[in-house]
Amino acid sequence: MITGKAAVFFGPGKPFEIRQISLPEVEPDAVVIRVSLANVCGSDLHFWRGDAALKLPADGWIFGHEMTGRVAHLGSRVKTDSLGRPLKEGDRVAYTYFYPCGRCYACLNKEPASCPAKIERPRGPGDFPHFNGAFAEYYYLRPGGHLFKVPDELPDALVSPVNCALSQVIYGLHQAGLRFGGTIVIQGAGGLGIQAAAVAKDMGAAEVIVIDQIPGRLELARAFGADHTINLKEVTERRDRVNLVRQYTGGAGADIACDFVGFPQVIPEGLDMVRSGGTYLEIGTISRGAKVELEPAQLVWGAKKIVGVIMYDAWVIPRALDFLVRNRTRWPFDRLVSHTYPLERINEAFADSEWHGRETTTITRAALVP
Ligand SMILES: [Zn+2]
Ligand SMILES: [Zn+2]
Repeated sequence: MITGKAAVFFGPGKPFEIRQISLPEVEPDAVVIRVSLANVCGSDLHFWRGDAALKLPADGWIFGHEMTGRVAHLGSRVKTDSLGRPLKEGDRVAYTYFYPCGRCYACLNKEPASCPAKIERPRGPGDFPHFNGAFAEYYYLRPGGHLFKVPDELPDALVSPVNCALSQVIYGLHQAGLRFGGTIVIQGAGGLGIQAAAVAKDMGAAEVIVIDQIPGRLELARAFGADHTINLKEVTERRDRVNLVRQYTGGAGADIACDFVGFPQVIPEGLDMVRSGGTYLEIGTISRGAKVELEPAQLVWGAKKIVGVIMYDAWVIPRALDFLVRNRTRWPFDRLVSHTYPLERINEAFADSEWHGRETTTITRAALVP
């Protein structure tokens, strides 16, 4: 029996434990992937920190989702990737990590990204197919999962953010309706916010404005195409920040503002920054139970929309890979994964990634090599 290492999570404040787990025989329509790089995503930090109540299985949880790897075992019926290109063991792939159910109202209406059943509750390592998360030697891509061959010119460190941060951002801006010549405010210059700046420029945005409180992150946002940055520590009044956005957008306010911060307190300010008729894109605040006070008349009188996005449709992944091939020398994508650790040092990787409550951080994305 083949086994592989996995980092098992037992709850906030408790260390991950490295366990050997047995790899199941691959089903005819499934693919076993040997993970080469797994990133610590902002949402992983929320779980680790305990920002939201979580019900964990008794035998713990293998989590993590932002990753890339190579085909280790192909199910007998899998001959190609999701674009029909021949696939063999050893090929580098980018892949989805969620599974729309195909049997619900959203799925029936061809909106798989809105399927309420696409992500399951945390599953323990005892649950088939055991390798249910990125922080492990293997990932079991279940039947129905999408996978795509990776162009040779893209190194793993560029590809590992593709199936979460980058695809999430591309799909979010698509759903929010960003158009050629549009203007956009990005709240939060973490992994998602920085990539959103570059994607918005590639989509033809005229003005990209990024807001954060950590100078190093704002510097990185400018390196990724931001036209303007606003430091919360320098412009301390909300009214002044809103006025700056008006000034940068010809007086109108931005077509789109987005929450990539993950704390709902930023939402009312972002709504103020949106122009009349514009759209607020909510992606960052995934913690259930986190609340904020809103003035609905602001939406009514401003004819504004709020769009929530969780996950993306699988067509985004090959477009994200193309985006990277097209722009890999235009923006410094190699700075996105700033630190790598062996899987055994996962506790250190999480502790080093923690930014909440800190003045400075040097880490943009920590990656684990299982
Ligand atoms: Zn993620
Ligand atoms: Zn469904």
